[in-house]
Amino acid sequence: MGENTKIVADATCTFCGCVCDDMVLTVDLEHHRIIKSENACVLGKAWFKEHGIEERPYALIDGREATTEEAVEEAAQILAEARFPIIYGLSDTTCEAQRVAVAIADMVGGNLDTTTSVCHGPSGIAFQGVGESTASLGEIKNRADMVVFWGGNPAEAHPRLFTRYAVTPKGMYVPNGKKDRTIVLVDVRRTLSTPVADIFVQVKPRSDFEVLWALRALVKGRKVDPSVEERTGVSLAVLEDLVTRMKSCNFGALLFGMGLTMNRGRHFNSGALLALATDLNEFTHWVAKPVRGHGNVTGADNVVSWQTGFPFGVNFARGYPRFNPGEFTTVDVLARGDADAALIIASDPASNFPKAAIEHLKRIPVITLDPKATHTSQLARVAFTTATYGISVAGTVYRMDDVPITLRPAFESPYPSDEQILTAIRERVRDLLGGNRLPAGTPLAATVS
Ligand code: SF4
Repeated sequence: MGENTKIVADATCTFCGCVCDDMVLTVDLEHHRIIKSENACVLGKAWFKEHGIEERPYALIDGREATTEEAVEEAAQILAEARFPIIYGLSDTTCEAQRVAVAIADMVGGNLDTTTSVCHGPSGIAFQGVGESTASLGEIKNRADMVVFWGGNPAEAHPRLFTRYAVTPKGMYVPNGKKDRTIVLVDVRRTLSTPVADIFVQVKPRSDFEVLWALRALVKGRKVDPSVEERTGVSLAVLEDLVTRMKSCNFGALLFGMGLTMNRGRHFNSGALLALATDLNEFTHWVAKPVRGHGNVTGADNVVSWQTGFPFGVNFARGYPRFNPGEFTTVDVLARGDADAALIIASDPASNFPKAAIEHLKRIPVITLDPKATHTSQLARVAFTTATYGISVAGTVYRMDDVPITLRPAFESPYPSDEQILTAIRERVRDLLGGNRLPAGTPLAATVS
């Protein structure tokens, strides 16, 4: 190791919801970049490689270079003057930044939403309606002898979910790793994940709910008509075999992805899968967990839930939090043309939202916080450059199994963190509003420092 390099052991990759915390990073201190990332998968390696320090303006206002202070003032003015400001994103930043964002939303009577609303929002709704039989990934690694992946492609989206947690690793009660496990994959098509499975169940598109309901019926010993195959593409014999295996394993885990949640049926699908786990607990132990995409989207759910009572799609316009997916979720708010200002944190909705929503974003003042230039930052009135969480910012993130993990940054960034910018905005908004904006008796997160 040269004078200008250092090793950071037990660092964390925040690229995906696996939040692998066993990274060994070799850091080039002179050029502020990571030159080697041991233990990272191909996606993690690309994440570390791409997040060196780029020379960018600290902030832009209407495309012109500005100081951070000027940009904070402009952002605070926009938020304080807005009648329906929205705050969105938050899944690629620390919990510390997320809680300041909640405080701002509360203070300005705004609309608060995270990228959960476009991924596992339906699961968040189902958890509240059906409940969740849960486990950490460590428990799954050590105990699960049957794992069912439903509507996901971890080989490409979460590569180490297979190798670190749920398929190949040897565990306390599964000492031979994959040999001790039955791996089932349920999907509408074959993917790179399919070869990992012992059993591949191909369902017809938009029929997951029917398959789950048929499994529930069979678990309860009810009769299912063989015509289920015509509707779902899955024969009764396959379903019966699956149920026999599910009831006789020692510890089963259902890990489900957006192929289930962003499909016809949405929260009914997630609810059916959670209910199946509950049914199976009459016979043996089963858990069900969503497989999460962004590095701290689970943290966003946790922070927004513990501060407002709801996981996403929360509106403070009446001075208290109201939860209504479909009304207060960002795509819907923008597509209706309701919002008159937007604060977007570590997210790029202009690259993936529906056209009507993006068109409205172009019409209103937008404030962005991002380490890189994005489609959204390019249309923003105020664009802050911030340091990358996990690489240059310390703090807390939640792994997809709701386990909090402390970040161990590799090198310092000249740019401020999201938390620092948001705190400065919050303080200035508080001054501008003179403490008068909140309706009486609704302090909530605005009082959290
Ligand atoms: S699985 Fe996800 S968190 Fe783990 S190294 Fe790969 S990208 Fe990073």
